[in-house]
This record gives sequence, structure tokens and C-alpha cells, in this order.
Amino acid sequence: MPPEPSIVTRFAPSPTGHLHLGHAYSALFAWRLAQAEGGRFLLRIEDIDGTRCRPEFETAILDDLGWLGITWQQPVLRQSDRLAHYRAALDRLDAAGVLYPCFCTRKEIQAEIRAASQAPHLTQHGPDGPVYPGTCRNLDGEQRRRRLAANHPHAIRLDLERALAPIAAPLIWHDTIRGDYVASPEIFGDPILARKDIGTSYHLAVTIDDAEQGVTLVTRAEDLLPATHIHRLLQALLDLPTPIWTHHPLLTDAGGARLAKRTNAPTLRALREQGLSSAEVVAMADQLAAHAEPIRM
Ligand code: GLU
Repeated sequence: MPPEPSIVTRFAPSPTGHLHLGHAYSALFAWRLAQAEGGRFLLRIEDIDGTRCRPEFETAILDDLGWLGITWQQPVLRQSDRLAHYRAALDRLDAAGVLYPCFCTRKEIQAEIRAASQAPHLTQHGPDGPVYPGTCRNLDGEQRRRRLAANHPHAIRLDLERALAPIAAPLIWHDTIRGDYVASPEIFGDPILARKDIGTSYHLAVTIDDAEQGVTLVTRAEDLLPATHIHRLLQALLDLPTPIWTHHPLLTDAGGARLAKRTNAPTLRALREQGLSSAEVVAMADQLAAHAEPIRM
């Protein structure tokens, strides 16, 4: 058996568009760390959302990363091939009694939150906005059975209070830039572990796959830092190993706006078509990174 590598990193893009400089930086960040320590660098395609992901973007991602000079170990894991694994984890959590079906529509949740905001002290705000008020957590067994029997569409949520109850010691996780954190998943309220439409979620899939792939250092942009509180709890609930994390700053353009798909950040394709070499594009990403400021959290 070959010796275990000292470090395993990964880049995990969603094929919902073309990569931009921010993605290039994130991929280079993980790849360089693995290279520097003789470790392993993996690629994972996060394509669980069939409505937004497209095969041509996946092809383009592989092509763009190759053009940048990044190399990865085979096989490339594709999340859409792994739905049975996510289902098995949900079954396990269900058997532990920490899940519940949530029948609420987005509109119903908003109405509930609006009603509660008459009493603002009752509305909690989390990193993604007001937290789910727990309506379906409070359904009784009969109401739940009736709706399930009638095939009401539903998501699956984690009942945080139940999930946390048996955990005696604080769940610690470490970020190499920001230090130690005590996991505080309650900032989000009961998270969705399986969406109505896709039967799983980013939180569940990413946690299971990082463990499955033996990732020891999870690197990603710092807008995902709060999500790590949930991932650390899921690791504890599913007996998965705990890696360490580096949440690197997000790249911004000259005006200080974050590079993002929705703000039309120039794609690697476009830069390439303008005649820039891959070395020039890598240098651009590094230059932006040198000026990137960590978000205050
Ligand atoms: N697939 C996620 C994205 O493209 C990244 C997930 C992660 O690195 O944890 O934003």
C-alpha cells in the first residue's frame, strides 16, 4: 500500500456557470498546498442541483483547470452519482430521531416570520437571514403521518435541539487563518438536509464527500465559513473524521465588489479568448488575492 499522503485538499465547483478568477484562485490555493507538501489534490463536481447544473459547464471546468496547469488525482467525484450515499446517511440520522419532514413553502415561512416580526424579539437572524421558526418541528405525529400519506412535498430538516442534546463536549473546529471555533450550528436554526426537489443538500453532500475522499484540509472562500458550524455537527452525528479548514478571502474587483457569477466577473474563458496566457491569468488572480481583505465576522 502506498503511504498515506500528508495532506489531501480539494476543489469542489458547482457546474452552474463558467469559472472566473475567484474560482481560479480557490483552485490554485488548494492545489498549491497539496503540491508544496507532496499531498494529494482532488476535484469534485458538486452537481446535485439538476435544475442549475449543466454538463457543458462541467466539461468547461475541467478544460479551464487543465489550461491553468492544475493537475488532479483521478477519479473525479461527481455528486449526482452519490445520491444513495446521502440517502443512507439520512436514514441513519432518521433512525437516531434527529430529523423531521418540513412541508412549509417558502411563502409560508415568510408569512410566519412576518407575523413573528410583530414581536421582533422572537425572530432570530442567522447568516442566511431570518431563521426557520420551527413550524413543522411542532407538528404532532398524526399531522405528520397524514401529510406524508398524502404525499405532501417536503424537505427534511435537522432538529438541532435533539441533535445537540446528547453531545456533551463542545465541538471544536480549527481554521488555519482564524483559529479555533466552537461549533454553533444554532445560528442557522434547523438546517435543511434534504431539499424537496433534490433529496439532499449542500451541507450533507459536502460533509459526506469530504470524509469519503479523505480530505484533511478543506479550503474554500470565507463566505462559506458559517456553514462549517453545521458541517462540524454533521461529522459528529455521522461519526466522520474532522479535517481542518482554511477559509480564504474572497477576491474583489478594482471597485471592491466581490467576483461572482451574478456580478458578471470575467470568466477564465473570456480572458483566454482575449489572448491572455494562463501564466498571465494566474498572475492576475494572485495579484487580486494579495489585496483581498478578510471579511469581518
Ligand atoms: N460547491 C460549492 C461552490 O461552488 C463549494 C463547496 C465547498 O467548497 O465546500 O460554491
